[in-house]
Amino acid sequence: MTRSSRPARRTPSTTLLCAAALLLGLPIVSAAQNTSKDVPPIIDVHFHAMDESGPNAQPMCPNTSNFVASDPKGPEAPFGWVQEECSPKLYPAKPGEYLKDVVAEMERLNVTAVVFGSPEQVKRWQAAAPGRIIPGAPFESGGKRIPVEQLRVAFTQGGIKVMGEIGLQYQGISPSDMSVDQYFALAEELDIPVAIHMGTGGSGRSNVSRPTFRASKGDPFLLEELLARHPKLRVQVMHAGYPMIDNMLALLQASSHVYVDVAGLIWSYPIKEVNRYIERLVDAGFQDRVMFGTDQMMWPKLMTYSISLIQNADYLTTQQKRDILYNNAARFFRLDTAGVK
Ligand SMILES: [Zn+2]
Repeated sequence: MTRSSRPARRTPSTTLLCAAALLLGLPIVSAAQNTSKDVPPIIDVHFHAMDESGPNAQPMCPNTSNFVASDPKGPEAPFGWVQEECSPKLYPAKPGEYLKDVVAEMERLNVTAVVFGSPEQVKRWQAAAPGRIIPGAPFESGGKRIPVEQLRVAFTQGGIKVMGEIGLQYQGISPSDMSVDQYFALAEELDIPVAIHMGTGGSGRSNVSRPTFRASKGDPFLLEELLARHPKLRVQVMHAGYPMIDNMLALLQASSHVYVDVAGLIWSYPIKEVNRYIERLVDAGFQDRVMFGTDQMMWPKLMTYSISLIQNADYLTTQQKRDILYNNAARFFRLDTAGVK
């Protein structure tokens, strides 16, 4: 994840962590209108299996325009996004309605999602949205690492297809750290793609709210030793290593098994900056490596908002938009696309 729940003011951006899940809700406007399979399919490669918007969820303004400094004499908010009004503003779901609201959006927008969470959480989503869920699971639970043989069972017998979200950056740990190498070795052996949080985080205030987070541990170059040790490993760099574009491009040039997702960053940072970042990835020649994602959590309309940013991008061709919204993820996850228009 990128941003976690933000303060009631406005909206934060991307940083989040990928594990927490705290949501709850307020009013929401959802409502499945049409449920047309004629809508071109979309794959959201970065989606969290929360059941509720959560008790601390607040309305959110996407693409907040700037971060503000704070004084250690305090008081200091845990998020640095400036408070500002916006339109559209995204609202949490009402208690008990988040899952239903998001599934309605998935059907309306014809979205299949790679959903990360505990096996129990992911199963609830599979039951609620049959055929639209690709199950993902991290190698940690409740702050503890899961025995590798337990994970082997989950991947070989439990139907889990992706390892993630791996949020080592929030612990200040490099993805190439040998303490976690056994998990990546397992993924390589089983041919399971791994999804690693890289880059975003901190919400403009990691010094205040997340003391173990290290911006430096999101550097895409930290993946190089891991990739060298596991040359067949397929890696989804979550949040596209934002904002380290130069190192991200260099890594993409160096390794053809690396893809990126634009989740979280797409709605968490100033819009001009977001578009520039995605444009650089594409203009550098990696239009077949950029995957759409939301970092879905808390706000049911986050998905439609995030999709609109790609669909309205005047710097992308129609083909590039389809590649980002569907084709690249279908290739990376080796989905059966027979019959897909
Ligand atoms: Zn993340």
